[in-house]
Amino acid sequence: MERKYETVWAGCLKVIRDNISPSSFSTWFVPIKPVQLVNNVLTIQVPSQFFYEWLEEHYIGLLKKTIKKELGPEGRLEYSIIMDSSRNSNPSAPYTVHAPTLNKQALKNPPVNMPIDLNKNNGNAIPNPFVIPGLKKLNIAPQLIDSYNFDNFIQGDCNRLARSAGLAVGQSPGKTSFNPLLIYSANGLGKTHLAHAIGIEVKNNFPDKTVLYVPSEQFTNQFIDSVRNNNQNDFIHFYKMIDVLIVDDIHCLAGKEKTQDVFFHIFNHLHQNGKQIIITSDMAPVEMKGIEPRLLSRFKWGLAADLQVPDFETRTAILQKKLYNDGVDMPQEVIELIVRSITTNVREMEGALISILAQSSMNKKEITLELAAKVLEKFVKHSPREITVEYIQKMVCDYFEIPIDKIHQKTRKREIVQARQLAMFFAKNYTKSSLAAIGSKCGKKDHATVLHACKTIKNLSETDKNFKKAMDEIENLIKVKM
Ligand code: ADP
Ligand code: MG
Repeated sequence: MERKYETVWAGCLKVIRDNISPSSFSTWFVPIKPVQLVNNVLTIQVPSQFFYEWLEEHYIGLLKKTIKKELGPEGRLEYSIIMDSSRNSNPSAPYTVHAPTLNKQALKNPPVNMPIDLNKNNGNAIPNPFVIPGLKKLNIAPQLIDSYNFDNFIQGDCNRLARSAGLAVGQSPGKTSFNPLLIYSANGLGKTHLAHAIGIEVKNNFPDKTVLYVPSEQFTNQFIDSVRNNNQNDFIHFYKMIDVLIVDDIHCLAGKEKTQDVFFHIFNHLHQNGKQIIITSDMAPVEMKGIEPRLLSRFKWGLAADLQVPDFETRTAILQKKLYNDGVDMPQEVIELIVRSITTNVREMEGALISILAQSSMNKKEITLELAAKVLEKFVKHSPREITVEYIQKMVCDYFEIPIDKIHQKTRKREIVQARQLAMFFAKNYTKSSLAAIGSKCGKKDHATVLHACKTIKNLSETDKNFKKAMDEIENLIKVKM
């Protein structure tokens, strides 16, 4: 049986009263009225929008803690806000709106101490007496997107292990055997979303922990900058202070040896100190190419969990949740059509949904099956497919009628060498893969070999007409996919 909302709120007030000044208590808590308790969600009524925002800004941490204390970990808070009714025809009947806790504040990190590099020339500035010598306070933005939370991440057979491992990590970061937690899947299946959700869960449960989400590319660029500016120590110190480090798309570090070195160093430090590491990748660790073995072996210490393509029911639930969050109504038959048309990539499915909504609102037309079918037809046909190194290899080999595995073999036969070089050339121009990644996929060559291949092909195309013609034909084959 659920407890009465008055009792629950009275319990909360008792704790809150002990934790804040009497004047704050009477200003901000006495005017609140509890209104209901349904499914562990306690609704409290507040006198105005401003009041609501103030509570969210200043007291959300305390409110959350007390609610959890009274209602258990599932306990939640919702507001019923009395709106300004002066413009209402009947001013004596104020109306209210409901609002969830936004928890914006919770997604901030507390300031951390950053050692100042004493070797650096700080000019003649007078030291600030309020700063501990050798340390400066630093605010690290966690870079978390608040809508990518667990509430919005639909559970299904496709993600059961990854999701529950993620939740466990969010509830006890650094304390489970899932360290690092590695989430891998094909494109558009929810890696980034789940990674953020874990970070948000940590912030909700442990507001004092410093969480940082960083895409691998950004990590790489920061590192390159630090080398250029000669402050690598600051870079390393910065990452060593993080309690929960989330590195997205780690496969982007393929072939970047220096960046991998420094990440290895940071990884070890964090892991040894019981800090949590979460990594995402487009492949299982065993299949990752261009990543140093010592780093790969670290990735295998924890848990690697994959995200599969969601089934029909899960895809439907994902779309419905999105529509619900955006406050949009859509006929069930249209939802079903989208879910049946786009089956392998959630991001594409959401893209189709947005196109349909845009079509309907721009042309002021109702969302019908007909309109959706029209949009989907175009969408499915024209959705750009990603061009991979493997795809390019296949096009080149098909063209010359040579078996694709020849490209990977150590042979100096002219036609094979040329096919391999062409594959490298097109891969450089049409994929986002790094030179090192391309090399490792084309007969385990290094990045210098790829560069050399590109130069050779360019020279040949400028001097040999027949070669240029073949090249153009292959290029057209590749472009069919775009
Ligand atoms: P990835 O990082 O694997 O390429 P994303 O995390 O960017 O994929 O997901 C693509 C889109 O699909 C995002 O908008 C995300 O919110 C959505 N999505 C994927 N899986 C789910 C899920 N299980 N529940 C809700 N939304 C999902
Ligand atoms: Mg992603």
